[in-house]
Amino acid sequence: MTTSDRFATRAIHAGQEFDPTTGAVIPPIYQTSTFVQESIGQLRGGYEYARSGNPTRTSLETLLAALEGGKHGLSFASGLAAEDTLLRAVLQPGDHVVLGNDVYGGTYRLINRVHGAWGIRNTPVDLADLDAVKAAVATDATRILWIETPSNPLMKISDVAALVEIGHEAGAIVVVDNTFASPALQQPMALGADVVVHSTTKYLGGHSDVIGGGLVINDDELHEKVKFLQFAAGPVSAPMDAFLTIRGIKTLDVRMQRHSANAQAIAEALVGHSALEAVYYPGLPSHPGHELAARQMSAFGGMLSIAVVGGADAARAFAESLEVFQLAESLGGVESLVNYPSAMTHASVKGTELEVPENIVRLSVGIEDVDDLVADVLQALEGSAR
Ligand SMILES: *Cc1c(COP(=O)(O)O)cnc(C)c1O
Repeated sequence: MTTSDRFATRAIHAGQEFDPTTGAVIPPIYQTSTFVQESIGQLRGGYEYARSGNPTRTSLETLLAALEGGKHGLSFASGLAAEDTLLRAVLQPGDHVVLGNDVYGGTYRLINRVHGAWGIRNTPVDLADLDAVKAAVATDATRILWIETPSNPLMKISDVAALVEIGHEAGAIVVVDNTFASPALQQPMALGADVVVHSTTKYLGGHSDVIGGGLVINDDELHEKVKFLQFAAGPVSAPMDAFLTIRGIKTLDVRMQRHSANAQAIAEALVGHSALEAVYYPGLPSHPGHELAARQMSAFGGMLSIAVVGGADAARAFAESLEVFQLAESLGGVESLVNYPSAMTHASVKGTELEVPENIVRLSVGIEDVDDLVADVLQALEGSAR
C-alpha cells in the first residue's frame, strides 16, 4: 500500500492491494451475488449481498475517492444512475436546482423531465455569468448548484471556486460533473465542491467498453444518505464493469496528457481555416476561458468543437467524411470519435434553451498518431467546403 499523494501513483494503487491469499498483483474480480456467513448475521469482511457491497466495487469506490481527493466514493451502473441517486437523496418536492445552460443533455433531461415530474424545479443559467448565477440561486429552495466545466459541446469554462462561494452563500450543495476534464486535469474538491460526479464511461474507463458512473462525496451524512439509496434502489456497477473501469484508470494520467496534446495540435491546425466559423478549445489563447482554464486545469483536455461554415449540411458532410474519427456518440476513449450534437447527443434538448446550433461538430480526440488525426480533419474539411 502506497502512501504517496501524487496523482499518477494514486491512480494505480489506491484500493488495489494485492490479493492476500495468492499474492495476485491484480485483486480478483468478485463475480458473485452473495457471500457465505460464518453464522447467522456474522459476515466475513462485511459483505452480505452484492447490491449492498461487493469487494470489486469497493475497490473502485476507494479509487474514485482517492482520484478526486475526497472522502467517500460510490460507483454506479451509469453516470445518469449516479446523478439520479444523488438528486433523489438530496431533493424534496418543491426544491430548486440551478444548473449550467449547456450541461450534458441527459443531465438536463433527468432533472427537467424525470425529477420535474416529481415537483423539482430548475433554472438553467450561463455559469460564466456569476451575477446571473447569484440571482438564480437567490431563492430559498435552491438546494443544488450543478456545474459542468468544460461544458459540452461549446467548451465553456466556468470558475469553480467562485461558483462554490456563490452556491454555499445561498445554502446550496455544489456539484461538479468532472467527466470532461477528469481528475487528472481538474480537482473540483480542492476548489471547494461538495460532490463530484462522473460518467466513468468516458475518460476514466477510457476504452469505450463499459458504461458506469461515480460520485465522490466529503460529507459523512450526505454519503450515508446516497449510499442508503444506492443499496435500497440498486443502481450499482457490476463486478466486471468495476474491474474494467479500474483497469482503465491505471493509465488515466498518461492518456489525458496525450489526449490534450493531440487536441491542442488539431485546434492549432484548424484556427483560421476558411471552412470554419470558430474553433472551441480552451487551449487556444483566443478562447474566452483560456486563462481561467490554465489556472483551474493542469492541461486542456481532449474535447474540441468546431462551427462549420455552411450550416447543418456542411457540418453533417464534415462529420460523415472523417475516416479515422468514427461517427458515434460518447467520448473519452482511446479512439477518436466525431459527434453531430444537434441530431445525436443533444437531440433531446432541441427546442429548449440548451439547444446546440446546427453547424457545430464535436470531436473527442483520441490517442492515435497526431499526424493521422490532423490529416483526417483537414481532408474532411475540404470535402465539406465543396
Ligand atoms: C456521458 C455523460 C453523462 C452521463 O453518463 P452515462 O454514463 O452515459 O450515463 C453525464 N455527464 C457528462 C458530462 C457526460 O458526458
